[in-house]
Amino acid sequence: CSASLHSNATLPRKDELPVHGVSEKVIGVLGGGQLGRMLCQAASKLAIKIAILDPLVNCPASSLAYYHMVGNFDDSTTVQKFAKRCDVLTVEIEHVDVATLEILEQQGIDCQPRASTIRIIQDKYLQKVHFSQHGIPLPEFMQIDDLEGAKKAGDLFGYPLMIKSRRLAYDGRGNAVAKSAEELSSAIFALGGFERGLYVEKWAPFVKELSVVIARCRDNSMSCYPVVETIHKENICHIVKAPASVSWEIKNLATDVAYKAVSSLEGAGIFAVELFLTEDGQILLNEVAPRPHNSGHHTIESCKTSQFEQHLRAVLGLPLGDPSMITPAVIMYNILGEEEGEPGFIANQLMQRALSISGAFVHWYNKPEMRKQRKMGHITIVGRSMSAVENLLSLTLDEASEKPA
Ligand code: ATP
Ligand code: MG
Ligand code: MG
Repeated sequence: CSASLHSNATLPRKDELPVHGVSEKVIGVLGGGQLGRMLCQAASKLAIKIAILDPLVNCPASSLAYYHMVGNFDDSTTVQKFAKRCDVLTVEIEHVDVATLEILEQQGIDCQPRASTIRIIQDKYLQKVHFSQHGIPLPEFMQIDDLEGAKKAGDLFGYPLMIKSRRLAYDGRGNAVAKSAEELSSAIFALGGFERGLYVEKWAPFVKELSVVIARCRDNSMSCYPVVETIHKENICHIVKAPASVSWEIKNLATDVAYKAVSSLEGAGIFAVELFLTEDGQILLNEVAPRPHNSGHHTIESCKTSQFEQHLRAVLGLPLGDPSMITPAVIMYNILGEEEGEPGFIANQLMQRALSISGAFVHWYNKPEMRKQRKMGHITIVGRSMSAVENLLSLTLDEASEKPA
């Protein structure tokens, strides 16, 4: 067999050869934050070309991208100009100019996932309407247009009541909790009033939050990562544990709901489905991200194929990789920004400590500025059991919080 491969007679003609390398297509990514950066890292291994569109000259993905167009991903002319340089367009953030993506699709530009998906996801209220129409279990919700409407919702759903911005929400910026009717107006004020559009959700009394990351290929075949547990602090993802410590029935239910949610959306790529597990064993959908997600960062070190490589494979139409875990347990800890202007003392201590721990992997996103509660990096720890990786994480955190005398 190897002899025939080396024989000229059996070599294919040049025009029959596959393209040189894995793919010659340029993937255009709207956004160049940490997700774009980690997409570039995965692309580098396969020599896949990634172009990014981001307004920040020194955004996290800039130094790793094949090409960086400096500009806004919510500006129509810029997105159209950028699309001309790419073979397939994808996103690392859903807050992009979707009307332009729709126009581009009509012109034959390949957008993955499809613009219809971005349109549904980027408006959280529309997203809820969409999933409830598809029979997916979620907390009750209601649009509110004024204080009267908020009071009615409070009467109906009770307190605490979750108030959310319809658009531009991330890391909990866009969520406010009213513990009673008296707190409604201050919560609404904290979200900037009704101008940007608000809706309310009934409080989900969850015992755990779970997440399921699913990849869908262009031929609609899907591949699912193990169910993980996510722990949030002040609405921001704090820790991710995989595999989730729940029964196989709950894992199956969570995966079923996630498959159903993703099946109702169009296009290829990674989708992350955030879920609530209630005390009585129900699974409710919180939201879906149509892109790689914080709950999948652990896959870089813990799975046969990372979510980032999987996303690239999916949008290019390459075979999907194996999503199964190669380690019994993994924990991921987000390094959040400290006070603005601070040099990041705790973050640095944490990383120094983690660098000396076997099984710990440090990721620093190189964001141009440190801001309080901003995701600056993360640490992943793999190990033989959940208690082992939890112990290593507490060791890292305890030592890091010891400030010098
Ligand atoms: P992300 O960074 O995941 O995009 P986001 O800003 O879109 O966050 P959500 O996912 O809507 O915010 O909410 C953030 C967190 O707030 C959830 O993970 C959960 O901990 C809590 N939360 C959201 N909705 C509810 C609810 N209805 N009841 C109780 N807690 C909730
Ligand atoms: Mg969100
Ligand atoms: Mg969320």
